Amino acid sequence: MDESKKCFFCEAQSARFKFETQSRLDQTFFVFRCAQCGCLFLNPQPTAEELNLAYKDDYYGEGESKFAGPIEHLVQWFREARARRVARLLKPSQHILDVGCGNGRFLAQLIRQGFKADGIELEGNSAKRAAQVKGLNLHIGAFDEVDFKGQQFDAICLWHVFEHLPQPQRTLDKIESLLKTGGYLFLSLPNAASWQAMMAGPLWFHLDPPRHLFIPTAKGLLSELDRRGFVLKNIRHFSFEQNPFGFIQSWMNRFTQPREVLYEQLKGHGKHSVSGHKLAGAALATPALVLSILESLMRRGATIELVAHKK
Ligand SMILES: [Zn+2]
Repeated sequence: MDESKKCFFCEAQSARFKFETQSRLDQTFFVFRCAQCGCLFLNPQPTAEELNLAYKDDYYGEGESKFAGPIEHLVQWFREARARRVARLLKPSQHILDVGCGNGRFLAQLIRQGFKADGIELEGNSAKRAAQVKGLNLHIGAFDEVDFKGQQFDAICLWHVFEHLPQPQRTLDKIESLLKTGGYLFLSLPNAASWQAMMAGPLWFHLDPPRHLFIPTAKGLLSELDRRGFVLKNIRHFSFEQNPFGFIQSWMNRFTQPREVLYEQLKGHGKHSVSGHKLAGAALATPALVLSILESLMRRGATIELVAHKK
């Protein structure tokens, strides 16, 4: 185990070993927690080889989409809702950058409304799908390596992407330099201080080892953004898309090996359209929804979505 005490996010020398966790591929990772900001992070960080295995192409789904039939429609509905939230704060013709743009459908929606859009995605199936989106200026590669040649944006979005990137402080530096004064940062990610995280520990669905390199707390993230001169516009602690499912899958992880079996089935990786896992998931939906509402009322949502603007 790496004995380094340095927090992966706030860089304070106050991290302590918290628990061991297993990936779907049965690799063991050590999770540390920072006493300063509450961030959870893998220590040591996964190797390039471990990440390659975890991201092998089926993570993004084969063919056209990541999820199976009806689930993909639901995902598309959430994507469109997100695009509407962004569009409400901006004027058409303004310029949006989506970091980790996936198949580009979120940006496609905004392009249809007259926005200019750049997207970044790693090479692979998703990037191939994004390359088909008309009007999208696609950059293939890692965020910290793409050169924007002095270009600045009116909005930058990272939807469940920040926690995948290897150098959070450098990521934030780059976001700051790419955002115009008054520009908006849209960020969604899991919350290490959520009830769900506390209850599920190593089996937490949104821990997603080793793809999530670190998970900050809402409070730790807000204090970092404040230190950098961002002003919070709003923060949501409830996500119908992410939070109830997180409870369901975290509970089910107690009984299945490897973890995330239901999630994989919803991505179309199971043989059967009706399975014991899906029925169990449906039975757990009501308690999961109730707990998700309660934790969000206490501002301890399993995932958060925030908008901040640069002063
Ligand atoms: Zn920290």
